[in-house]
Amino acid sequence: MNYKKVAMNQKIRQNNEKMPVLFIGHGSPINVISDNDFTRSLVKLGQNLPKPMAILVVSAHWLTDGTYVTCMDKPKTIHDFYGFPEKMYEITYPSPGAPDCAKFLAQSENIISCSTQWGLDHASWAVLKHMYPQADIPVFEMSLDYSFNDRNPKPVQYHYDLASKLKVLREKGVLIMGSGNIVHNLGMADYNMQAKPYDWAVEFDQKVKSNLLNGNVEDLINFENMGSSALYAVPTLDHYLPMIYSIALRDENEPVTFTYEGFQNGSISMRCFQIG
Ligand code: ZN
Repeated sequence: MNYKKVAMNQKIRQNNEKMPVLFIGHGSPINVISDNDFTRSLVKLGQNLPKPMAILVVSAHWLTDGTYVTCMDKPKTIHDFYGFPEKMYEITYPSPGAPDCAKFLAQSENIISCSTQWGLDHASWAVLKHMYPQADIPVFEMSLDYSFNDRNPKPVQYHYDLASKLKVLREKGVLIMGSGNIVHNLGMADYNMQAKPYDWAVEFDQKVKSNLLNGNVEDLINFENMGSSALYAVPTLDHYLPMIYSIALRDENEPVTFTYEGFQNGSISMRCFQIG
């Protein structure tokens, strides 16, 4: 297929078809300067997807009291990590923002508010740097409501219900991407990126995989019921929830395709998938 045809197909899809949805297991920030099978899968993904009008990233690294979207014209690159090579702090991702999309969301859902304080954290730019290196597509982020009520966080079901309201954006050509990790236990992480994954990490990742393939949303929401591996795999909700946002945007009978499967540091599942 020649370039012109590809460009034309992309355009047709942008105008007439809803955009796919992604979940990306982002892992360590070091991936932004790495060339490995995971980062190569991101490059390929960016090349194969229809060109989005804008990208919305639901970030594991933006935890707020309430739900926010970035409403600025030029979101700044946030280097929200410590102890990494100096050159990583010099990387920027100067994509434009998508204030019109963000304001549309904030106006249509009263539990979503505009923020001009945040920007793009590494859940966004460390991934997008590989997928869309030219940073020419507008990007905005959504936070996770991490407010506690009597020491209880918002239930997973709350996030699922909120996420399903974002479906309208798919029709508008927005690529929605949850960015977290299905298995994410930093306390047990091995320094070696290629470390053999823990048995419980493999077990939980496989259970989630089956539930994704079977469309068993209830078990994904009530993940604690998946057994003791869940306790190790999801010690906190922050990296698991972005996956819930992605799966909530799936329409009936839409296929789930795994664009990457694997582990890093023994305790982090890098599983990524595409819906639609
Ligand atoms: Zn992370």
